[in-house]
Amino acid sequence: MVALGSIDEVRRAVTSCTACALCEGRTNAVPGRGDARARIMLVGEAPGRREDGLGEPFVGAAGQILDAALAGAGLSRDAVYITNTVKCRPPRNRVPTDAEREACSGYLAAEMALVAPRIVCIMGNTAYRSLLGGGGITRERGKTVRRGGVDYFLTVHPAAAIYNRALEGVLGEDMRALARIAAG
Ligand code: SF4
Repeated sequence: MVALGSIDEVRRAVTSCTACALCEGRTNAVPGRGDARARIMLVGEAPGRREDGLGEPFVGAAGQILDAALAGAGLSRDAVYITNTVKCRPPRNRVPTDAEREACSGYLAAEMALVAPRIVCIMGNTAYRSLLGGGGITRERGKTVRRGGVDYFLTVHPAAAIYNRALEGVLGEDMRALARIAAG
């Protein structure tokens, strides 16, 4: 991958990317969005149907849950940077494969380097596995992990709360903790 010197360059590269087979089924690639100098970067799994249609991350049901959790923590979407592990929608919203995550990893790495947030919030197991090689995030959520000079905060994926409403409270609690850490 060529060096990407700005978030706008990342956005342009993502929207024209054909580095893995997920490009074949997409309507739109979905680059990250938000404040390019944010103190908090949130990383999810992959775009869903609505995100694919609009080319924006977290604009469907999971996005509404995330927005509510952010608002409860005094955070606006425009004050954070939100992205995904892979930038194109997998068929039927399946979990991205290792090869797809690997193909897309350079964009996430570039976003992290360019935004240089105070803390990276990992939402769900796909991002956890990609960034830290972890799993079982419902057990690990609420923790902060320092790796390679970067602080990571672990929480559940907002989409998990669509089917398990108790996780909305968990996500809200975690966003409040995240906001306190980022302010420190
Ligand atoms: S998922 Fe990532 S690597 Fe694959 S085509 Fe989309 S932008 Fe490129």
